[in-house]
Amino acid sequence: MPLYAECILPVPLAQTFTYRLTEQQAASASIGMRVIVPFGKQHHYTGIIVSITPHAPEGIEIKDVTELPDGAAVIRHPQYALWQWIAEYYMCPIGDVMKAALPAKLKPESGKAGIIREDFKPKTRTYVKILIPPLGTDVSVERNSMLAEAFDKLKRSQRQQELFMKLLDMSHCLQKADADLVPQDELFKATGYDSTVLRELIKKKLCEQQEVVVSRLDTDDDYRNFSTEQPFPLTEIQNVAFRNICSSFKDKSVTLLHGVTSSGKTEIYIHLMREVIAQKRQGLMMVPEIALTTQLCIRLRRVFGKRMLVYHSKLNDDERAEIWNRMLTDDSVDLILGVRSSVFLPFSQLGLIIVDEEHEPSYKQQDPAPRYNGREVAIMLASRHSAKVLLGSATPSLESYYLAQQGRFGYVRLKERHAGVSLPKMSLISMREARKNQAMNGPFTPALIKSVNHTLLEGHQAILFQNRRGFSPTVECTVCGWTPKCPRCDVSLTFHKRTSRLSCHYCGYSQSWPSACPQCQHSSFAQQGYGTERIEETISRLMPLAKPVRMDTDTTGSKSSYEKIIRDFDSKKSNVLIGTQMVSKGLDFGGVDTVGIMNADSLMNFPDFRSHERAFQLIEQVAGRAGRRAGQEGEVLIQCNEPRHPLLQQVIAHDYEAMAEMQLADRKKYFYPPFSRLIMIYMKGRYEDRLDALAARYATVLRKAFGDRILGPEAPGIARIKNLYIRQIMLKIEREASTQMVRQYLNTIQNTMMQDDQEFSKIVFYYDVDPM
Ligand code: ADP
Ligand code: ZN
Ligand code: ZN
Repeated sequence: MPLYAECILPVPLAQTFTYRLTEQQAASASIGMRVIVPFGKQHHYTGIIVSITPHAPEGIEIKDVTELPDGAAVIRHPQYALWQWIAEYYMCPIGDVMKAALPAKLKPESGKAGIIREDFKPKTRTYVKILIPPLGTDVSVERNSMLAEAFDKLKRSQRQQELFMKLLDMSHCLQKADADLVPQDELFKATGYDSTVLRELIKKKLCEQQEVVVSRLDTDDDYRNFSTEQPFPLTEIQNVAFRNICSSFKDKSVTLLHGVTSSGKTEIYIHLMREVIAQKRQGLMMVPEIALTTQLCIRLRRVFGKRMLVYHSKLNDDERAEIWNRMLTDDSVDLILGVRSSVFLPFSQLGLIIVDEEHEPSYKQQDPAPRYNGREVAIMLASRHSAKVLLGSATPSLESYYLAQQGRFGYVRLKERHAGVSLPKMSLISMREARKNQAMNGPFTPALIKSVNHTLLEGHQAILFQNRRGFSPTVECTVCGWTPKCPRCDVSLTFHKRTSRLSCHYCGYSQSWPSACPQCQHSSFAQQGYGTERIEETISRLMPLAKPVRMDTDTTGSKSSYEKIIRDFDSKKSNVLIGTQMVSKGLDFGGVDTVGIMNADSLMNFPDFRSHERAFQLIEQVAGRAGRRAGQEGEVLIQCNEPRHPLLQQVIAHDYEAMAEMQLADRKKYFYPPFSRLIMIYMKGRYEDRLDALAARYATVLRKAFGDRILGPEAPGIARIKNLYIRQIMLKIEREASTQMVRQYLNTIQNTMMQDDQEFSKIVFYYDVDPM
């Protein structure tokens, strides 16, 4: 009887696909294996088998599996279940989840007929093996004569002699029984000779080349230099927290560690991970962005050595595939340090997931689908392994804090910084006042300039936080007020001095400086506002001792550029770090005395129900970079227009609880999360009028089903991106409502609308569940 394989394919479709297995294929096929299958007229895809059945679906033509490329499954059993949960909960096609989950190398996609087998190739390195018999063998009598003979062969070329001498030296073949293989590139580097000279030695049978498979992951510098060490012993206070966490793990699957910045959360993480690994289970340490991994990686590497792997967004395809393969085939992987996508790795026996800086919005994937929150998926992943989850933050998300208050999550509080270091002193500086006195100097109040200068004079460092990158966020015609905008998006263009172009931060469009105003023909433009680039430039004028360095997406294209910025600042090569929210994330520098928040209002005044929570988190986190050394008085200056604003008062008192109470009261009143759940329905189309009409009709139909839980349609803050107009409809539902029912309802409505009206199928349509 023939067998059929039901497969997921990396296409944005919600269903699985069935193919026929030959008898031979059926003998070796298993769930979780890859298949190469034909799709459509011209395509071949790599899919994953999710079930094997003797029953073929009826009424459709069934094609044959082209090939089973591997001998074994490439995903582990709990992974598919997790993918299904993500597809269902976040309302997206399972094919999209597969796309996000599998490393590119494991799912080659082909556009044409014919199979593309662009498989993961192990990395090799060329070594040189010396062909002189080793010491201590029975041929070692021969050895001396062979050496003499060798030098005789080489006597006419000094270059060959030198290369050979170096090879003798580097292979240690005169000192020990086993000659070492010598990396060819290192041999060349040590002698300055290349393969033309080496070729002669090979011809004379004095050595040969060997290709050796090496790990791509071992080339990381931080890998080589650390053997494992004991972690710091925990302090008394940390130990209490540690024990409370362990006892909370007994009856809660998720525990929130709410510890002020620099209280030693990371040290506690290290101790917890050691325990888990000692029980022969795996740990996953999640961080919001790669910026954090650099310093953390060094701390963890000291303790866990090579048994920890780092999984971040700047790895290349081969490195990702290698990590995946190692986790499938090799049980020496104890710990993963990774960003949100590390929840997709093939863990075999996960014991603990730590989500550090759990409040970070970057745990949520915005685009493309699946629009998942790494923190929530981590909780699901852990439950599939019966593992525990620890969420850590100095400023928890209100969602997690609320669940902890309700007793759904365990809760452990750490209120003091390590070694009796005090929290930095916060003060509010009124820009309005300074402006009135005409005392502003560009974006700086006199107080901030004075404080930074004082810090630099003492040989210490400062961090300046500004949430806009580029030079000036807007450019304006001084005569009529016209502003250059992106022709494809609904945003004004930001001027970047380095490239001397105006560019769009949403689609990457850029243009040169306008020659004349298209509205009034004058050509006098003013730059409004200060991005990080402009602040960097302004500083040199106002702070003569400053050696500034900038950290934003413009300066951190690669992992090494991050590392360089951090290294330079750490070694005091630079003394003022200017950055966007990237500088708020977990950096641990000892020398920072002063932190300046350039503009607190710009953080608070977003039209979003989370804007105050976010502003508090951002300011508190950036502030936490100051004064981390014992005996140091950190100072944080917050420039703002309304110093009396209650949120800013809570910020300067480091009063998270007061902030949470006030914000939660608001959320409750207006029925926002955590008191409700949100599903955002997005519609995108090329023609605005048509989109508006469709969105209005859609909302009407939805209202029939959901009543006043439906809000909108509305044009979002940025209502056009890349020439597509955007409309959103918000669904606010009770926390207790069955999300499964809601999703089914929404899907049915969408399908009916699409069937009834051709127009609907022409627009892009997607959901964002639990939007951030
Ligand atoms: P957090 O993660 O809460 O911000 P960290 O773990 O980074 O705090 O600790 C802040 C600083 O104090 C770090 O430099 C860390 O090495 C040091 N530290 C914390 N706890 C200890 C300890 N028990 N022994 C030695 N140093 C510690
Ligand atoms: Zn004009
Ligand atoms: Zn644009």
